Amino acid sequence: MKNNQHIITPINILPVVDFAFLFTLVSILIAISRYNYLLFHSLIEIAIATIGFLTFAFTWHLRRFDLGILLILGILLGCSAFMGVFHMLTYKGMVVFNVGPNLPTQLWLASRYFFSVILLVAMLFRGIKVHANLLLVSLCLSTVLLATLVFYGAFPDCFDPATGQTRFKIISEYVISGFLVTSMVLFWRTRSTYPSVVSWLIMTFFGFSILTELVFTSYFGVYDLSNLFGHVFHLVASYFLYKAIVVTGLENPYDLMFKNLNDAVRARDEFISLASHELKTPLTPLKMQIQMFQRELLKRSPDGDLDERSKKILSTTNQQLDRLNQLIDGMLDVSRLNTGRFEIFKEKIDLSVLISELVKRQEPMLATTTSAIELSLMSIEAEVDRMRIEQVVTNLLTNALKYAPGSKITIGLEKTAEGRAVIWVRDEGPGISKEFQSKIFDRYERGVSKSSEGGLGLGLYISRQIIENHGGTLWLESEPSKGSKFFVVL
Ligand code: ADP
Repeated sequence: MKNNQHIITPINILPVVDFAFLFTLVSILIAISRYNYLLFHSLIEIAIATIGFLTFAFTWHLRRFDLGILLILGILLGCSAFMGVFHMLTYKGMVVFNVGPNLPTQLWLASRYFFSVILLVAMLFRGIKVHANLLLVSLCLSTVLLATLVFYGAFPDCFDPATGQTRFKIISEYVISGFLVTSMVLFWRTRSTYPSVVSWLIMTFFGFSILTELVFTSYFGVYDLSNLFGHVFHLVASYFLYKAIVVTGLENPYDLMFKNLNDAVRARDEFISLASHELKTPLTPLKMQIQMFQRELLKRSPDGDLDERSKKILSTTNQQLDRLNQLIDGMLDVSRLNTGRFEIFKEKIDLSVLISELVKRQEPMLATTTSAIELSLMSIEAEVDRMRIEQVVTNLLTNALKYAPGSKITIGLEKTAEGRAVIWVRDEGPGISKEFQSKIFDRYERGVSKSSEGGLGLGLYISRQIIENHGGTLWLESEPSKGSKFFVVL
C-alpha cells in the first residue's frame, strides 16, 4: 500500500526531543565512565534492560495486532534484558558473584547468539504463524536454560584476563554480525509491510546492533574505550527498537490496524484480479458457440428465418452475455488500475463524431426505454484514447438511463475559455444527495438504487481514473430531485 510511503527524513525517524534525550543520556553516561567505569557499566546496562523490558511489555500488549517480526523482536529484547541484568551483576568489580571477566563476556555472547539466531530463523520462516503464548514461553525458558548453562561453565571461554578476548569470542562477534546483516537484508525486502518510519527505525536498530558487535571485537580490557562505545551503541540500538514499537503501537496505532486492513484489501484485490481473468476466459468461446448455434438454426429453418420464441431466447442470451462481459471488464480494469498496468493509447479524433456514433450504437437499447436523448455537440478535435473515452461516455449515458429512467437526457460537447474540451451528460432524474456525491467516484460505491439496478459500483470509479489518466477531470453537479449533470474536461 502506498498510503504509508511518505518522504522520510532523519527528523521523522528520530524527532529532536528523542535525539536530545538520547544525546543527554549518552553524554552523562560517558562522563560517569571517566569517573567510575563500573558505575557507568551498571547504569548503561540498567538503561538497556529498562528499554528492553519496556519494549517487551508494549509488544506483548499489542500482540493481538499482526506485528509481524516486531513481536519476536520485542520478546527477544525482553530476554536480552534478562541476560543483561545477569551480565551486569557478574561484571568485573561487582561483588555480587565475584567472578572474573570471563563469565559476563560469556553471558553477553550467549545472549547475542540467541538473539541473532532466533531472529534469523524468524526472518527466514516469517510466513509461519506461531502462537504468541507459545513463543513467549519457549523463548523465556530457553533464555533461563541458556543463562544456567553459561553460569555452570557449559559455554566456551570468551575472556582471558592475561590475553584479552579469546579467538572464539572475536570470531563469534563476526558470525553474529553476519546473522544480523542477513536478517537486516531479509527485513529490507519486506519493509513495505510496515509504515516507512517504523521500517527505518528497525533498519537503524540493525545498523547499531551490527556496529555494537564489530566494536566489541576490538577491546583488550573490559574497562577500555572500545568496550565503552560497544555499550553505547548497544543502548542506541535498543532505543531505536523501542521507538519502533512505541511509534507503531502507541503513537500511530491506526497504522497497525490499517496494516491488517490493508492486507485484507490486498487479498481482496488479488482475488478479484484472479477471478475476473478466470471468468473472462470461457466467455469469448461461449459467445462464439451461440453465434454458431444461431447460424445452424437458420440453416435448418425451412424459410431461412427463426421463430419468435427462438429469436427472443437468443437475443436475451446475447444480452446477458454482453452484460456479464461488461461486468468482468470492469473488474479487470480495477485490477489493472490497482497494479499500475492501466494504459492509455492516444490518437487525434473528433469528439463529436465519437459521441454521435456511440449514441447511434445505443439505439437498440434506447428503443426499450422511454428516455429521450438530445445532442448539443460542437466539433472538437482532441488527442485521446478512443476506446476509453467511449467507455466513459457510455457509462455516463447508461447510468442516466438506469438511474433517471424516462427523463430527458442531454449530451453536450463544448470548449472552455482555455480551449479544453468539455463533455457533459445531463439527466432530469432523482439527482444525488450532497453527502453521496463525495463517495460516488469511489470503488464499489453504490447508491440510491442498490436493490433495483444491477452493477458493481465501479463505472464512475473507472471513468474518473480514465479521465485523470488523460490529465483531465470528471465531476458532477446534482441536487436531489433536480437531476444530475456529469462533466468531463479533457
Ligand atoms: P453502478 O452503476 O454499477 O452502481 P457507478 O460507479 O456507475 O456504478 O455508479 C455509482 C452509483 O452512483 C450508482 O449506484 C448510483 O447510485 C449513482 N449514480 C450514478 N449515476 C447516476 C445518475 N445519473 N443519477 C442518479 N444516481 C446515479
